[in-house]
Amino acid sequence: MNFYIMTLFPEMVMDGLHTSIIGRAVNNGLLSIEAVNIRDYAFNKHNSVDDYPYGGGAGMLMQAEPVYQCYRALEERIGKKPRVVYLSPQGKTFHQEMAEEFAKEEELVFLCGHYEGIDERVLEEIVTDYVSIGDYVLTGGELPAMIMVDAISRLVPGVLHNDVSAEFESFQDHLLEYPQYSRPEVWHDKRVPEVLMSGHHANIEKWRREQSVIRTAKNRPDLLLKAELTEEEKRLAEEISGCKAGDMGL
Ligand code: SAM
Repeated sequence: MNFYIMTLFPEMVMDGLHTSIIGRAVNNGLLSIEAVNIRDYAFNKHNSVDDYPYGGGAGMLMQAEPVYQCYRALEERIGKKPRVVYLSPQGKTFHQEMAEEFAKEEELVFLCGHYEGIDERVLEEIVTDYVSIGDYVLTGGELPAMIMVDAISRLVPGVLHNDVSAEFESFQDHLLEYPQYSRPEVWHDKRVPEVLMSGHHANIEKWRREQSVIRTAKNRPDLLLKAELTEEEKRLAEEISGCKAGDMGL
């Protein structure tokens, strides 16, 4: 899978994405990540890419033309109109299912805004998806782009070892992951739950599923709306969250 990140701060993106699992996947040729500097497409002698917003207001706005020229150069290299994600607090909030859907693409372009954002007209022409990473405002789209690249990359076949990718993880089946423990058996007087030491796989699975339901009901009851729960699990969720199953939409 090939990621292209249009940004004014390419070194920030590249430094952050070339370590650990993602860095290894790049070295193995499973992924390519390229930061493209929008400033290379500045069209004045000062190399500036921002200007005051019409109508007044604080801050500067990234101008349409450098962003457009940067995009056109990419489109030409890719050889088709790519999917272009504009990172924006005004977009749809990023979630795991969205990551799964993006992971099916061959090419993905991210557009990072800075300052007060980007001239609306170029967004209208090139952006296919508006995505936010949460209800707060950051100084730029670089960190959100890195978060998305990370979440999408680990779903690309081969990036994680097969045994790891087959494991249950948070948000799968609309539940959070159960608690996990490693050696030593006792730490700070806390003992690993007995069932995990039993070697009894069916009991371990039952315990983990129950813990997932408890954890989700406690921390993210909103997720349970889409989870498929047995009648017994619904009762458990109700008990933990203090809400009636009906009120939770279950
Ligand atoms: N004036 C914009 C507004 O109120 O919607 C905010 C601009 S923000 C200071 C600058 C850039 O940071 C945005 O263009 C966007 O690329 C990025 N950004 C900020 N918060 C974000 C978020 N929660 N998710 C994704 N991108 C974000």
